[in-house]
Amino acid sequence: MTTTQNTDQAHLTDEQRLQQVREVVADLGHLVGGRLVPGDGTFTVTAPWLGAPLAECPSAGMGDLDAAVAAAKAAQPAWAADEPARVRALHAIADAIEANAELLGTVLAAETGKPIRIATGEPMGAAAHVRYHADEVVPTETLIDDDEQTVLVVHEPIGVVAAITPWNGPLLMLANKIAAALRVGNTVVAKPSPYTPLASLLFGRIVQDLVPPGVINVLAGGDELGVAMTQHVDVSMVSFTGSIRAGKAIMQQSADGLRRLQLELGGNDAAVVLPDVDVQAIAPRIYRGAFALSGQICAAVKRLYVHESIAEELVEALTAIARTHTPGTPWDPETTMGPSTTRPQFEYVQELVDDAVAAGATVVTGGSAPDRDGFFLEPTILTGVDNGIRVVDEEQFGPVLPVMTFTDIDEVLERVNATDYGLGGSVWTRDTALALDLARRFESGSTWINRHPHVGAEVPFGGVKLSGLGREGGPRSYEGFSEPRTISILKEN
Ligand code: NAD
Repeated sequence: MTTTQNTDQAHLTDEQRLQQVREVVADLGHLVGGRLVPGDGTFTVTAPWLGAPLAECPSAGMGDLDAAVAAAKAAQPAWAADEPARVRALHAIADAIEANAELLGTVLAAETGKPIRIATGEPMGAAAHVRYHADEVVPTETLIDDDEQTVLVVHEPIGVVAAITPWNGPLLMLANKIAAALRVGNTVVAKPSPYTPLASLLFGRIVQDLVPPGVINVLAGGDELGVAMTQHVDVSMVSFTGSIRAGKAIMQQSADGLRRLQLELGGNDAAVVLPDVDVQAIAPRIYRGAFALSGQICAAVKRLYVHESIAEELVEALTAIARTHTPGTPWDPETTMGPSTTRPQFEYVQELVDDAVAAGATVVTGGSAPDRDGFFLEPTILTGVDNGIRVVDEEQFGPVLPVMTFTDIDEVLERVNATDYGLGGSVWTRDTALALDLARRFESGSTWINRHPHVGAEVPFGGVKLSGLGREGGPRSYEGFSEPRTISILKEN
């Protein structure tokens, strides 16, 4: 797809868009042992911007899973033995993702509902993550090296990794997991969410010839396929991103084989705003932190605690920004926010808003679904809420921000930490020394100062408490995707 074609595409109708994506999907299959296979049926993927069917996606059966795991197991020793080939392949994958960014972005926009500009940025982000891993060195640690002895820790691959991903950033998460796993010398069987499987299958087709058969396998299917992956006797590790509910289940499912686990789970991040900030300067950053991707980011700002003295001004500034945002289809150039990606999520977010209103919340702006097809919600700001109300206590994962006030910093930190979630959090102040002190007191895997969130290929990211196990991003990714092995040498005199 060239840029010229893309410009022409601005005039396509919704029906033509659907047709275009269906033509791409017609050529998709599961990548198994280097071949695209049809699976044993199909399931329907919904276009969230229409609330209507988008395409039929091939569905992988248990036979496909066995074949994929067998291919991954067979390919793994040779893959692990050839580091230069791994580096070359990761660079080739990054190049191929970039070269296909428009096509991948079109499919992502159709299945997630993200505005096309943002959807096309996702492959570019995915390519950057893959390139990071291509260029990164898997560390060898020298713990002791003296006249008598040398003690090293080397990082060796684990084997076949099951990579299971959610629907909010399908390609970014898939590419990141695959790249980190492959860099160490593992091979991968990946499964995207059944809500958004299409770009991941397209990724499989794009990388089909860039790695030896069996090194990357991609299967589309429902939760039951994920369950079978985590219980497969020849899967040695599960790298999972998704809900806490599924993360807990995966821990139990994987117990029998004592599979290695990396779990990137849900969050309910708090942002705490101190009275010394420039309210007008930070309001757009807080707004983006809460409402980017219609709030469907694991580390979005999901609870806002503002010092009482500036709360009114900040709520007004956030409300003014919210009123400039119009939900719309991915293709409309005026669109700045997309829909909820799934119907259950759409209904859940509405349920939380209704519950808060019933409990006495004030809807400062938004609060309802615009009168149009698709899973659209207005950006919603609530006041008059507090801990103990569901929209504050639960991960709403939608375009809703409950705003609360505080006067005492110790008291607000208690409210911030009174949760089982522990993914991210932020402090907003000009007092860096105070912010550093407060950041250490947040019970979260990442705490940001004057930003929220900050993630990237080189930045370790993950949760404490029920928000997960292990870290993705940066060289620490390799701690999760490898077995640390100790080598101890007694030197001869
Ligand atoms: P989900 O847990 O329902 O599904 C995620 C994936 O797991 C899907 O592919 C699904 O088919 C599969 N799955 C479900 N049950 C399974 C089981 N028992 N065994 C194996 N696989 C199973 O999550 P979702 O609704 O797709 O995603 C939203 C959630 O993901 C939110 O909670 C969000 O915060 C979280 N998330 C976390 C991060 C992070 O990095 N911490 C990033 C993005 C999303």
